[in-house]
Amino acid sequence: MSDDAASRLTMQDPREQYPKPPFPKQPQPAPGLAAEMDPRPDHGETSYVGHGRLAGRKALVTGSDSGIGRAAAIAFAREGADVALVYLPEEQKDADEVVALIAGAGRTAIAIPGDIKSPEFCKALVATAVEKLGGLDILVNNAGKQVTQPGIAEISAEQFDATMKTNLYAMFWITQAATPHLKPGSAIINTASIQAYDPSASLLDYATTKGGIVAFTKALSKQLIEKGVRVNAVAPGPVWTVLQPSGGQTQEKVQHFGEHSAFGRPGQPVELAPVYVLLASQEASFTTGEVYGVTGGEGIG
Ligand code: NAD
Ligand code: MG
Repeated sequence: MSDDAASRLTMQDPREQYPKPPFPKQPQPAPGLAAEMDPRPDHGETSYVGHGRLAGRKALVTGSDSGIGRAAAIAFAREGADVALVYLPEEQKDADEVVALIAGAGRTAIAIPGDIKSPEFCKALVATAVEKLGGLDILVNNAGKQVTQPGIAEISAEQFDATMKTNLYAMFWITQAATPHLKPGSAIINTASIQAYDPSASLLDYATTKGGIVAFTKALSKQLIEKGVRVNAVAPGPVWTVLQPSGGQTQEKVQHFGEHSAFGRPGQPVELAPVYVLLASQEASFTTGEVYGVTGGEGIG
């Protein structure tokens, strides 16, 4: 086990485990690159250890070049899965690192760059993943768009439309295309947010989509358990990802990101990875239609 893995798993006060604010201001144009963040997030690159819980599985993870999706993709590969990665073309630099990490775990990575606001691309990405992976067992709808605005007057029709398309329509299009391929034992995991339960004034359109993701997850779980397929959501609280400095928060909020959580710090993407692994694996064999909060003490509901 690497030193980083050993220190991540050693019993300790979790409040002291990862970087705390204040952080430097670090504006980037959306979607941004994790490679340019300060401090660099921990996605598990050197710290996540697998235990064979997803041996031979075939997973598709959207938004997997960076942040929570990247942490899930790395963990899935270390647990024995082959992974198809979806991301925007301008994120190729981040994606290249994930491809190399998956290869380093001895698994296959399929890179599928493109814009999920397009229904045609959503259908095509599922077809490509199924063809190149030789099937599909795990779908993680994780890509997301978040743009902070002070009030409803500042939310343009274009922003509202792009947020809905990225966070809700794409999840629908991708899931609709993927469902016929999912055999009993397969799992769908959608990334919701604490924003579904405790929405911020500055994230009106984004929070609306996250509430929709929770409802979609619960309704779909009732349909798909009839096929032996489980559907769950993860609701993160503040997590140190490039979503935030690339327009998801003001730079002032980035400087103090996570400060108000009970931990006095934001979560790191690797702290979400075990939950995605659990929900994807057969260990969660009695779990469907649930929302798993990883909020840093805020709670959901
Ligand atoms: P991130 O920026 O690292 O990941 C989001 C990814 O979405 C991007 O990497 C990008 O590849 C993808 N994406 C966005 N628009 C796209 C498009 N049009 N086409 C294809 N891909 C597109 O940030 P993250 O925080 O890891 O976000 C992952 C998920 O976690 C999102 O759904 C986000 O809403 C959710 N979330 C994040 C936090 C947080 O504090 N970071 C909290 C709650 C929920
Ligand atoms: Mg990214």
